[in-house]
Amino acid sequence: MTILCATCGVETAEPLPETCRICADERQWVPLHGQIWTSVDEQVADGMHVDVVELEPGAWAVTSEPAVGIGQRSILVQTEGGNLLWDPLGTITDDAIEQVAELGGLAFVAASHPHMFGVQCAWAEAFDARVLVNERDASWVARPHERIEEWDGELEPLPGVRLIRFGGHFPGAAVALWEAGSGGEGSLLAGDTMQPKPDRASVAFMRSYPNDIPLSAGVVRRLADQAAGLRFRRMYGNIPGQVLEDGPEAVARSADRHIAWVTGEHDDLT
Ligand SMILES: [Zn+2]
Ligand SMILES: [Zn+2]
Repeated sequence: MTILCATCGVETAEPLPETCRICADERQWVPLHGQIWTSVDEQVADGMHVDVVELEPGAWAVTSEPAVGIGQRSILVQTEGGNLLWDPLGTITDDAIEQVAELGGLAFVAASHPHMFGVQCAWAEAFDARVLVNERDASWVARPHERIEEWDGELEPLPGVRLIRFGGHFPGAAVALWEAGSGGEGSLLAGDTMQPKPDRASVAFMRSYPNDIPLSAGVVRRLADQAAGLRFRRMYGNIPGQVLEDGPEAVARSADRHIAWVTGEHDDLT
């Protein structure tokens, strides 16, 4: 049975801790009335439904109804060497397995960072896939599993799909660069490493998004410089609707703006 934290959607092994460690961290929160655990069986009994919808040719958004965790979506990327499930959902249902099987199943499951671990091992078990966890964040895995493999730096698990560690939001925070995306211009699956915002023109660089803890000017410059070395156009965050069409420019603009604010350049406006 797959047990998970109802707040963040991350699977956790028994014996369960008193509080989910990811939620107790300063980047997240524990609900007002305390920790709630659930299970995939319970979610299914309550009518959980998973939708798989094409985002662009070769990439699919996997979302659940009702939402789990912060309402994140997974992105499934198809390659001729097999498929990657990025930022796995905090649920898995029989109809989800059926839909993903129709797209060719999964070779790898990987999350941008621990908030997005979801039920990664349950997804891997369903498809005989491998789970990739950045070694700098491996201590956040709450359900150790034989399918988990650690990586760092850069890894190309599938042809044309590169996992690249950026750090920032978490030391192991990563992006997935899908070179065939955006009609061959490259699509960047950015998770919370650089989060596309609702204005569809900017990204944010934060230690915590829900609790609004900013990253320093130096770290933001480092992240923006690293992004500037990648070839991509479209950029996806991990919430439905988070997408940018001018990814590299948006990252550069947003970094300049963030740095200006945190170094006091706009203090006259406050
Ligand atoms: Zn949690
Ligand atoms: Zn996060």
